[in-house]
Amino acid sequence: MRYDVSWDFGATSNDAARAEFMKLADAKELCRKIVAQALYRTGLLRAVDRLFRSRELSPMEGSRLPRLRRSSRSKFGILCYHRVGTDGVPLFSRLQPKLFRAQMEHIKKRYRVVSLGQLCRELQDGTSAEPTLAITFDDGYRDLYTHAFSVLQEYQLPATIYLIGQCMESGEVPWYDRIFLALKGVTGTSFEVEMDGFRQFALSSPKARIEAAWEIVSYLRTKPDSWRQKWCASFEKEVLIRPEDTEGRMLKWDQVRTMFRAGVSFGAHTMSHPSVSRLDWQGLETELGESKRLLEQGLGSPIEDFAYPFGKPEDRSLAAEEFLASYGYRSAVTTTEGFNIPGVSRFQLRRLSISDDWSLVDFAFNVSRMFLETPSEMRSIPIRSAEPVLSRMEQRELQG
Ligand SMILES: [Zn+2]
Repeated sequence: MRYDVSWDFGATSNDAARAEFMKLADAKELCRKIVAQALYRTGLLRAVDRLFRSRELSPMEGSRLPRLRRSSRSKFGILCYHRVGTDGVPLFSRLQPKLFRAQMEHIKKRYRVVSLGQLCRELQDGTSAEPTLAITFDDGYRDLYTHAFSVLQEYQLPATIYLIGQCMESGEVPWYDRIFLALKGVTGTSFEVEMDGFRQFALSSPKARIEAAWEIVSYLRTKPDSWRQKWCASFEKEVLIRPEDTEGRMLKWDQVRTMFRAGVSFGAHTMSHPSVSRLDWQGLETELGESKRLLEQGLGSPIEDFAYPFGKPEDRSLAAEEFLASYGYRSAVTTTEGFNIPGVSRFQLRRLSISDDWSLVDFAFNVSRMFLETPSEMRSIPIRSAEPVLSRMEQRELQG
């Protein structure tokens, strides 16, 4: 099974449907890899790169094949990374620093790369530009300082790191990492846990352990966050999580400040990494407001950008967008795949999640492909639209 950074299978609880979905996803991924290799080896990937600058692929009514149509829209892509390095907790810990460096070299050569702030301004202004990229990292793992920072400096690439408030305060890894670590450390070959009835997991291999942890985290994302917190507290009484696995994994304030002084920007990623759609009003106030205040105090600078934990449509809400607007956030990024154009909501920015499993060829191909495929909800947006979509709160304010 392929573990990518998309958390795509979160709400799928039916085992057979999930297995079928995974089979299809794996087959699709294999096809992509074959096409990517063929394009790269024949030198055609450069031609694809040139093509996406003036064309888009859109579905054609009555046909399974997409239509290639001319487009003059400005396209803005945002890359979503988590860790860089291979010494982290089980999830997202397989991106070799050498490969990350090659990826940065590739985008530096082929794309216009700007800071997230500049990307937001250009999206707002409707600035016409060549395909443009911004680089983001979620969660604030320490290897961003030890492995990624020097590469970003070497290629003079701007980047934004989204920090989790409680992790900055406690230095501990977030709750979902603790579940992966717990399942990694459980002794024996099976494990039973309460998930709306008892669920038994076979833990016969490291892969089975990661699958079990994945299913538990996915299940918890569907629950109200206060319930999820109680569940985690009770779960941790039953399992052993070694302190040496949880400490020293996240960025420290002095590292954050050093990177900030060198031009890296920072955004908020809540206080405790909940699925934001599962928060009540009090929770929204704490997770969205408190995290902003904490980071602003720590950095001595405004925090304007936000990343939704997990980032899928089921992890977001209109109430959260209203809170983000009222707290003065400028943007919010998701993990829904695709490029952005002037006219998209600034609180629903799409990103391309970079998988640990991608080779450099896969990476180059997938970044190209992102700019070529029109995301579904953008198909109806007029090509030259320059006005940003206002949030409901802003609309109400304008109406008095
Ligand atoms: Zn996250």
